[in-house]
Amino acid sequence: MPARRSGEFELIDRFLRPLAAGFAGAAGLGDDTARIDVPAGESLVVTTDALVAGVHFLDRHDPGLIARKALRVNLSDLAAAGARPLAYQLALALPDSVDDDWIAAFCAGLALDQAEFAIHLSGGDTVSTPGPLTICVTAFGAVPSSQARGRGGAQPGDKVFVTGTIGDGALGLLAETGRLADIETAHRAYLADRYLLPRPRVAMGLVLRGRVTATMDVSDGLVADLGHICARSGVAAVVDADRVPLSAAAAAAVAADPSRLAVALTGGDDYELLFTAPRSAAAAIHEAARAADVPVAEIGVVEAGSGVRALRSGAEMRLASGGFTHR
Ligand code: ADP
Ligand code: MG
Repeated sequence: MPARRSGEFELIDRFLRPLAAGFAGAAGLGDDTARIDVPAGESLVVTTDALVAGVHFLDRHDPGLIARKALRVNLSDLAAAGARPLAYQLALALPDSVDDDWIAAFCAGLALDQAEFAIHLSGGDTVSTPGPLTICVTAFGAVPSSQARGRGGAQPGDKVFVTGTIGDGALGLLAETGRLADIETAHRAYLADRYLLPRPRVAMGLVLRGRVTATMDVSDGLVADLGHICARSGVAAVVDADRVPLSAAAAAAVAADPSRLAVALTGGDDYELLFTAPRSAAAAIHEAARAADVPVAEIGVVEAGSGVRALRSGAEMRLASGGFTHR
């Protein structure tokens, strides 16, 4: 191990143990395992997401932001499941280039988001690697078993809903990599920030408990993810592209180059909630969303059949790629 980085036990002591302090089941990272208690009648919900340097983030990115994104993409999965966050495990594979300063900034980012989302570190593993920096988070949450939900369950006649705005993540990646030069600096900065720091809809996930037929978060792109719901549910969906909510910055990017609408609809990294619900539930969903101060839009309908179609001004859009596929 290089001189600039402490050994594994010192890293755990200095940087990781404080992050486990609020979670009794972590036993101060003193045991081989952590213990997670779930109240009677609730199910434990588990999700894992790994981030690799050069694929999901760049070495030049701020370590605190990398940490928060690693945690937030998992929180977004818990949100889709309607789960209340409990704890997370963290596996780090560190190349020699990572030093104590990097780890300190990384853990400061984790501390910020632990406070924001009421989740604690419960354990993990730390290894050295000759390969790229790899961060793997496994997050745990709890949901009343009777309200557990997933991608299956959408019914013909249901409406399709989405929270927030769509396309900011994919357009933000263009902004981050210097491919969005034709819009104002402020719009570019907004989109880059949305890409670097997703806003998982944890509170809204709780609000939607018991109200939806199918749900997931938008990580691979709206069209591809709606396709996942359709495949699992054995239904088709039609999206009205004119009703898909865009941020002012995304709208500016699309106005400058209309081909970017397809990027917004098929790109990834939005981390908004995509869900279906019966028409009869729509009014209550909109009211609950208003109370939670979360924008929710109806963007389409579920039909019998298979696959996803997107209409623009009534005409079918030809979308080259169904979404982002991980290599
Ligand atoms: P083991 O020998 O079983 O792999 P370790 O010595 O790696 O155990 O870990 C000691 C303690 O530190 C355990 O409680 C483990 O969960 C915790 N730990 C190690 N690495 C991390 C990490 N990256 N994040 C959180 N906890 C960690
Ligand atoms: Mg270990």
